[in-house]
Amino acid sequence: MDDKKVRVRFAPSPTGYLHVGSLRTALYNYLFARKCGGTFILRIEDTDRKRLVEDAVEKLLGTLGLFFDWDEGLVGKAENGRWGTTEKGMCGPYVQSARLDIYRKHAEELIDKGRAYRCFCSAERLEAVRKEQEARKEPTRYDGRCRNLSKEEVSKKLIEDASYVVRLRVDGGDGNITFDDAVRGKVSFLRETIDDQVLLKSDGFPTYHLANVVDDHLMGITHVIRGEEWLPSTPKHILLYEAFGWNIPQFSHLPLLLNPDRSKLSKRQGDVAVEDYLAKGYLPEALLNFVALLGWNPGEGKTQEIFSLRELVDEFDLAHVHKGGAVFDGKKLDWLNAQYIKNLSAEELFTRALPFLRQKTWFESVEDSRKESEYVARVLVIEQDRLQKLSDVGESSKFLFVEPTVDPLFLPWKKNTPKETRLLLETMLAVLADIPDNEWERGRLEKTLLETAGERRGDFLWPLRVALSGEKQSPPPHEIAWVIGKQSTLERIEKAETLLEKML
Ligand code: GLU
Repeated sequence: MDDKKVRVRFAPSPTGYLHVGSLRTALYNYLFARKCGGTFILRIEDTDRKRLVEDAVEKLLGTLGLFFDWDEGLVGKAENGRWGTTEKGMCGPYVQSARLDIYRKHAEELIDKGRAYRCFCSAERLEAVRKEQEARKEPTRYDGRCRNLSKEEVSKKLIEDASYVVRLRVDGGDGNITFDDAVRGKVSFLRETIDDQVLLKSDGFPTYHLANVVDDHLMGITHVIRGEEWLPSTPKHILLYEAFGWNIPQFSHLPLLLNPDRSKLSKRQGDVAVEDYLAKGYLPEALLNFVALLGWNPGEGKTQEIFSLRELVDEFDLAHVHKGGAVFDGKKLDWLNAQYIKNLSAEELFTRALPFLRQKTWFESVEDSRKESEYVARVLVIEQDRLQKLSDVGESSKFLFVEPTVDPLFLPWKKNTPKETRLLLETMLAVLADIPDNEWERGRLEKTLLETAGERRGDFLWPLRVALSGEKQSPPPHEIAWVIGKQSTLERIEKAETLLEKML
C-alpha cells in the first residue's frame, strides 16, 4: 500500500476524561500515521445517549491537544455550535451524533440486501428468553423470532408504529471468523458464537458496531489500531464488512494495561484519568513518553528510555508492540517525570510550577516577599533535582516559605549536649553574620560553612540545618540559607539557640 494513503483514527467515546490507555491508543495511531506520512483523524463516538457527559468533548479535545495534533479540520467549534458536521465533510473532529442519517441509510441498505432485519421483540420478551436460556445453561443470544417475518407482517407493524431495532442476520455455521492482527497474529473466533447484533437501536441511534464500521469505511480507514478490549467486537465487525461487501482494514489490538499485580488497570485501584496525572504535576511530555513504553519498545538491544515525540515518530513500529499485558509502573512514571523536570529551563520550571505552589493551602498566608518571583525562582533552583512531580514544590520544603517549628531535641548531633550544640550554633551565627550581604551566594556560603566545620561536619552542620529547616531531612544548610536570605538565617539560628538555652 502507498504509505501516503494510510489513514488511521482515534475514536473515543466522550466519557468526561481521557483514560491513560486511550492516550496510548491515540499516541500509537498518531505515531503510525506521522511515521508514514499518512492521516490521523479524530472521531467522537457519542451514540450511546445514556452515557452522555456534559462538556466531555471540549474536555477531551483540550486534554488531547496538550499532547499532539490531528488532521482534517481545525480545533474549534464548528459554525453551528457543534463539533464537526458532515455537510462539509472535512470539518473534524468527526462526531457520530451529527451523522445519524448516514447510519440509518446503511442499516436500511442491509435490510434491502437481506443481510439485516427489523426486530420488534419487546425488552420483556428478550429478558424472558435470556432467563430461559440461562436456566438451560445455554449461551444467551437472540432466538431469531423476527428473522423471518414476512413483508406483510413487517409493514403491519410499521403502520402500527411498533418500536423496533435492526439486527444483523448472522448466518450460522461451524466455521471460524479469522483475521490477521498486526500485533497478535492470526486470530479466530467461532462463527456460531456470534449473535444477531443490534445495529440500529429503537431510538434511531446506531450501536457502536454499526457506526464504527460505517465510519471506518466511509472515512477510508486503512488501519484500525485500538485496545485489546475491542478484540471480541472484531468478528462482528468483520461480518458487517462482509455484509456490506467492503474491504476489511488491517487490525491491531494493543495489549491491556495492568496493575503491578497483573489485574486489569481499573479506576478503583488508582488513577486512570490523564487529567488526574496532569493535576498532580506530571508533565505531558513525560506522560506521553511513559505511555509510549506501555506495550512497545524500540527493539532488541536498544535501551533508550527517554523519547521526545519526534524521536517516537522516528522509532515507532507496530512490529515492536507486544502481545502480553503492559504493567503500569507508577514508580517508572515518577522517575521519568523527574528526568523531564530536571531538564526544564529555570524559566520553564517557574512557569509550570507556580500554579502548583499557589494551590497549597498555606501559600495564601506566606509573607509577600516570599511570593515574589525572584524568591520562588531561588526555591526552584534548589528543589529542581529533587522533584518527582510539580506538586512536590514546597511539599517537603514548606520551611522555605513559612517559619518552621523546631523541636530542640533534634538539634544536637549524636551525643552532643544542648550546651555544646548552642556553642556550635553560636560559632555558625558569627561566621554567617560576617558575610557581607552582596556575597550571600550559594558557593560562598558553602565554602564558609565547610571551612568552619572542618572535620566536624556533623557537629556543626546538623544543628544548623535543623535550626534552618526544622526537618531531619532537607537540602544542605548553605542552600537553605541562600534561599531565605541573611536576615532570616540569622534569626532562625538565634531562635534555635534560645530553645537550647531553655534546656540547660
Ligand atoms: N468508541 C470506542 C472507544 O471508546 C472505539 C473503539 C474502536 O477504536 O473501535 O474506545
